[in-house]
Amino acid sequence: MSTQKDIEELLQSHKLKKTSARIEMLKIFMNYTYALSAKEVISHMKVNHDRVTIYRALSSFEKHGILHKASEDSHGIRYALCSHECPEEVHTDEHVHLICKQCSQTYCLEDIKIPKIKTLEKFLVQKINYTINGICNGCLSS
Ligand SMILES: [Zn+2]
Ligand SMILES: [Zn+2]
Ligand SMILES: [Zn+2]
Repeated sequence: MSTQKDIEELLQSHKLKKTSARIEMLKIFMNYTYALSAKEVISHMKVNHDRVTIYRALSSFEKHGILHKASEDSHGIRYALCSHECPEEVHTDEHVHLICKQCSQTYCLEDIKIPKIKTLEKFLVQKINYTINGICNGCLSS
């Protein structure tokens, strides 16, 4: 279990200010097993914060290797915690994501790493997106 102290240390190690909004956001991410969109994060927060603050914090966490983009659709980007410390700017924890076709809920499959794929010689790979689409448990049983 992660505590307030762990979160503060995490922010500190990335030289990020320990604001109450940032701490609360990371607590929310630690409490959910699936990826969250900015909207969902905002709806789970007890204190009302400016939307801009939340969006800024999310992109800053992404930049610092604390969160990664798990999926993106018309409802926006869903973020999930990085499994281990990713270096600044580059995410090294690329893995498979499970995405529900019906509700867009996204789960990280941390154990399934994306294999090294040989691409064309003159092709700079910037992002590999490996997703498995299907129907989540919640949608199956409703
Ligand atoms: Zn990462
Ligand atoms: Zn679903
Ligand atoms: Zn993930």
